[in-house]
Amino acid sequence: MERKNCPVCKEPSNVSHSANGSKEYNTYECLRCGVYEIEVTDEINLSHRVLKSIGAVSHFIRKNYENNCLPGCHYFEITHEVYEKILFKLDKTSPAEQADNLILYLGKKLLEPFRSHSDMLDFEHNEEIKLCSITGCENKAGLYYIIEHLRNGLVILLNETTGNGNARPIEKRKLGLTFEGWQKYNELLETSKDSKQVFMAMQYNDPEIDDFYNNYLKNAVQETGLVLVRLDEVGRAGIIDNNMRAEIKKS
Ligand SMILES: [Zn+2]
Repeated sequence: MERKNCPVCKEPSNVSHSANGSKEYNTYECLRCGVYEIEVTDEINLSHRVLKSIGAVSHFIRKNYENNCLPGCHYFEITHEVYEKILFKLDKTSPAEQADNLILYLGKKLLEPFRSHSDMLDFEHNEEIKLCSITGCENKAGLYYIIEHLRNGLVILLNETTGNGNARPIEKRKLGLTFEGWQKYNELLETSKDSKQVFMAMQYNDPEIDDFYNNYLKNAVQETGLVLVRLDEVGRAGIIDNNMRAEIKKS
């Protein structure tokens, strides 16, 4: 195990080396991005590039590390395909998305509604770095912009304990959700469930089209992690146009 800067976010990380045939790999344990494996040639190229958004790439890696790691695998594998996506296809996350990501994270971490100050999340230096990637913020200044916005909107609570001395430096920070924050959290959980749905507008009862839809399209969409639905599958009583409008809105 050696110490090296993460090629994505430049935080000092633990690195271990492995090889498979002629290919060499490094596994980074980065405080910000999470744990990921990358082929050494891609890593060298990556560290010489200026990324469009460090925040978006670090967020992408952490999300995949935490949610999509296969059982028994403790790192996210940055294949060459993923590497190209990182370089060319990832756009900056918007401040609104960053705010939603922070609310979702806090809700999941705290699990139950706020009861006392002990139910708040300790928010030390390491947590600050991690929160940059959880939200998709570029840096700490970006993170505090989001925190201030949510605090002013009475969505989150931020408690700061200052130390002694003239400068009274901030020694401890804690984050929590307000009553409104928990409501927003529940709304976000609902929409993130629904937004996995992709709505298909098409003609029904044509055997050829039905076969194509059921045996090819549905599977292809499923492989992307989304669910393709047709209006006749949602089965809700009501005027067809209203159903259609409701389903499109959710998709
Ligand atoms: Zn990193």
